[in-house]
Amino acid sequence: MKHINIRNLNIVFTEKSDGNMRDAILRKNFIKKHKLPFPVLPKQIHSSLVLNADSHSLECDGLFTQEQNKALGVLTADCMPVVLTDFSSLSVIHAGWRGLIGGIIENALRMFGKKEIFAFIGPSARKCCYEVQEGFAENLKKTGVSERFFSRFSDRITFSLQELAEEKLKICGIKEIYDISLCTICSQNFFSYRNGNFEERILTMAWLED
Ligand SMILES: [Zn+2]
Repeated sequence: MKHINIRNLNIVFTEKSDGNMRDAILRKNFIKKHKLPFPVLPKQIHSSLVLNADSHSLECDGLFTQEQNKALGVLTADCMPVVLTDFSSLSVIHAGWRGLIGGIIENALRMFGKKEIFAFIGPSARKCCYEVQEGFAENLKKTGVSERFFSRFSDRITFSLQELAEEKLKICGIKEIYDISLCTICSQNFFSYRNGNFEERILTMAWLED
């Protein structure tokens, strides 16, 4: 696992060697072993919904809290884990292409109101490896996604989730963006759906200390 500390913000993301974080027992043991706060996880339904972590339903793909020491997490394998914070409130979201197009970043930012936000983009499929079909590119472009997020080679097209996310963040006025720049597909350290890890997941979690 990697632990990043910026001011009162803590971000932890797991690696393959930590095991499959979709396994609730393994996840619990991992949290205990590293003395981390237990994270609240959304159900993750590939929506663009962001809810307060105290909500009755967690049928969403992003959580928000104003509580200190309350950890929020998401499970991913190629999709983007994104952490947003103004260092007094926190949101952690699971953003695949569907969520991005659906406005999950904008939905999360709306919960903060007008604040200076810091954004973190975790390990995910990147343009070096994230191959898409021509039809996919055409469909995304119809929703307003720019051609510049696609890289065209003689034999393949790749897509940059991170650059699209960064554009959305910048349009919303976010200037501080820390992209960890780790590709789940070509790094051997992470589970990747595209590499056949259909069941295994990375846990990315964050919390704010008092
Ligand atoms: Zn790659």
